[in-house]
Amino acid sequence: MAPTIDPKVATAHDLPTPDPESPVRARKPYRFSTLCATVENPEMKDQYGSSSVPIYQSATFKGVGNAYDYSRSGNPTRSHLEHHIAKISSAAHALTVASGMAALDIILRILKPGDEVIAGDDLYGGTNRLLSYMRTNGGVTVHHVDTTNPTSVLPFIKAGKTRMVLLESPTNPLLKIVDIAAISKDVKERAPDAIVVVDNTMMSPYLQRPLEHGADIVYDSATKYLSGHHDLMAGVITCNRDDLHKQMAFTVNAVGNALAPNDCFLLLRGTKTLALRMDRQQATSDLVATYLHELGFTTHYPGLADHPNRDVHARIASGNGAVLSFETGDKELSERIVGSTRLWGISVSFGCVNSLISMPCVMSHASIDAATRAARGLPEDLIRLCVGIEDPIDLIDDLEQALIDAGAIAFDAQLNKYTRAMQSTNDQLNQAVQKLGLYDPRPDEQEWFVSAPGKVILFGEHAVVHGVTAIAASVDLRCYGLATPRNDSKVSVHFSDIDNFYREWDIEKLPWSAGTPLAAGEDHPDALDQVLMDAINAEALSDISGHARHASLAFLYCYIQLGRDRKPAFNLATRATLPVGAGLGSSASFSSCVVSALLLINRGITLPPPPAPSTTGTDAPAPHVHVSHQGRRFVPQSVAERINKWAFVSEKVLHGNPSGIDNSVAVFGGALAYTKHPSGPKMEQIQSFKSLKFLLTNSKIPRDTKKMVAGVGSLKASEPELVDGVFKAIQSITDEARRALADPELSRHELLAAMSALITENHQHLVTLGVSHPTLEAIRTTAAAEPFKLSTKLTGAGGGGCAVTLVPDDFDASSLESLMQQLINQTFVPYPAAIGGSGLGILSPYSPPQLAQAQAQTAAPSGQVTPPQTPGLASVDSGHADPLLRIAFEKQNIDSLAKWADGLGRWLYV
Ligand code: PLP
Repeated sequence: MAPTIDPKVATAHDLPTPDPESPVRARKPYRFSTLCATVENPEMKDQYGSSSVPIYQSATFKGVGNAYDYSRSGNPTRSHLEHHIAKISSAAHALTVASGMAALDIILRILKPGDEVIAGDDLYGGTNRLLSYMRTNGGVTVHHVDTTNPTSVLPFIKAGKTRMVLLESPTNPLLKIVDIAAISKDVKERAPDAIVVVDNTMMSPYLQRPLEHGADIVYDSATKYLSGHHDLMAGVITCNRDDLHKQMAFTVNAVGNALAPNDCFLLLRGTKTLALRMDRQQATSDLVATYLHELGFTTHYPGLADHPNRDVHARIASGNGAVLSFETGDKELSERIVGSTRLWGISVSFGCVNSLISMPCVMSHASIDAATRAARGLPEDLIRLCVGIEDPIDLIDDLEQALIDAGAIAFDAQLNKYTRAMQSTNDQLNQAVQKLGLYDPRPDEQEWFVSAPGKVILFGEHAVVHGVTAIAASVDLRCYGLATPRNDSKVSVHFSDIDNFYREWDIEKLPWSAGTPLAAGEDHPDALDQVLMDAINAEALSDISGHARHASLAFLYCYIQLGRDRKPAFNLATRATLPVGAGLGSSASFSSCVVSALLLINRGITLPPPPAPSTTGTDAPAPHVHVSHQGRRFVPQSVAERINKWAFVSEKVLHGNPSGIDNSVAVFGGALAYTKHPSGPKMEQIQSFKSLKFLLTNSKIPRDTKKMVAGVGSLKASEPELVDGVFKAIQSITDEARRALADPELSRHELLAAMSALITENHQHLVTLGVSHPTLEAIRTTAAAEPFKLSTKLTGAGGGGCAVTLVPDDFDASSLESLMQQLINQTFVPYPAAIGGSGLGILSPYSPPQLAQAQAQTAAPSGQVTPPQTPGLASVDSGHADPLLRIAFEKQNIDSLAKWADGLGRWLYV
């Protein structure tokens, strides 16, 4: 397995021995392990002939104009080490610094604001952290790209812009292989000024020397294999280019992070045994990987015959390394395995003579947020093994015992060997469902049905603009989005609530190349990509106006940003049971539906395995009560956060500068306390929010939010004392409301009485601020009159829009009917609603039989599908894989839409 050094390179950095070339004896360069063990620098002969390089533990050196004066700039022990590292890396230059991250820091300081970096999407977590820092503080644009496929890198290589391409191969912990040679070639051809940098930590110079494959700079965390004993932190940088070496040596001296003499000594000692250790470690790794693979665990190791890109790895490296990982299918099972080993130490890091075991998602990669981990396909149950030099039999024995203790494998008497045991209910269900072919795991080929609630501001509107806390809560009037795959090359939208708007676009004709593309899994930056917005407007929306144009722009903007890799063909149909444009957050619930459908289709988010089946033993969907989160929370927080970030992007497209409160309520549901703050808004979920019944009444008077906000502003300017007093009073109302909602001692009756009083009080303050309207006062008077005696306040900007009336639990149905009738008689539109219920919902993809049943029920009685009534729709139906559900959705009466949607199956909520 020992690689031989390229003779050309070996000559350049060779030792003075063996004998010089002579006509009788050809000179043979030494092989790698000999080079490792032989630390000699002909230019630095030791005055006493010491066998081991001495430690020059000295900060300063006497004299002027000598080779060394100050250890930050140069130290003899370090020079020996750097000479040695350059030699074994087939490099002209080496620098040694305080850690692997310090090495990357030195390299990244080559960048200037405005430069673009292309980086892998499965990099070491600390590398991601430093790159994010550079993005936010250094004005550098970073594109995380799937570098395992060289063609996916091509669109990001831009001459004059791309300054650095950062690669890692194999990646850690999934051991994905990157073709360093092919990407380096592409980069040199397309952006000659760009520098290719490779993190070679996983392989060490023994197994892979990327400078030989076109890289410009290579760095290693020498904390790992190079030192080998986990007794020091160090980083090494190697390169052949004099200019890059000069620039980086300047930075090392300038920042002062060069490796200290003692650590140089230790690293030099460790390096002598690099080849020996690696040979043993990777031979054992091969055995361990084969053992796990044969047990049936999904195992990631380049030595396995089915490892993706194995041939590429064989071309650029001369061994498979000593890190491998495997999946168990169950995070808790993985935790038990890791906790059960004795010889394998639970520790981050790798490359040590001792074997280590870890769970990357909770350890080394915990600094990458869960949503990004999911987007990058990093399984939460992944176990990483870093193999040391212990006896391979002891190591496999210990691992086997841990697998047995954790219940991952069991003895099969028939086969007379250990086999993989069935795991948790989730795992079993998952496997059973997949076996039956009920759940199609290809999200772009299945329908996704999503929904999100609207919001009401319960307390604090207007005052919130001036720093007072507002309380907003979700309302169970929702927007629904149904994404149905098409089997042509078009994407289309049907927005029922915007004048029944329908439009389709040829996917290939959309402006894919406009603006700066985001890589898969990358978060959207703060600012919208104006170039892309302009291109969409010009090329796809030029003949559309009004709300339809805004909604289409938000859709296409997110479609392009999230869908570059897949360009999925589908139709998105949306409908809302909440009034549009009445201040109830309809746009945010629309945005949340759009982006969650897009993220699901493009695999930007993934759902956990199916929820455990209902204990009632029936197939009937769980009863659905639209008032609290109790028992139905399923969509993980990290997934919700990612949806919320993108919903905010869509809201920005729609409104320019939204507060973020509406989309947060639409995604997270419940109630939220929101306070504006100079350093960014503070949003806190009110954990114990209790669901309340309200009557929302639309006055049908259009609001002019800007005018109302400006009116309060000028009142504040002319009567500051009055207005400040009002704001203070509103702040105490929101504080009081939060205390009441969180107080477990308060009876339901007491809570409702408190809320009712606070509602009346808050409304009076809004009247003082001049934002009420005669229609809103008429609604208030009607609800306050005998026999109803209910408290009402305006919600949102006022001057029209909606009023909210608190309806006590014991308020009888006939009284509510009669109140609604009185309001209708006055031309208002009342909606009974629950406040504080679930956030974003996704119809479970795990129950297709129920869905099929519902589809069958909604088809016309004869079994014939009734053609859709929507203008223009007939022409596209041939493009749909199965339009049944979509037709039923679009035809459903608005009053029965929510009930119909609930009946389709189990909804999974945030
Ligand atoms: N690169 C890789 C692949 C790593 O695994 C690590 C550390 O785990 C580093 C870089 C950072 O090295 P250090 O911890 O020495 O700063």
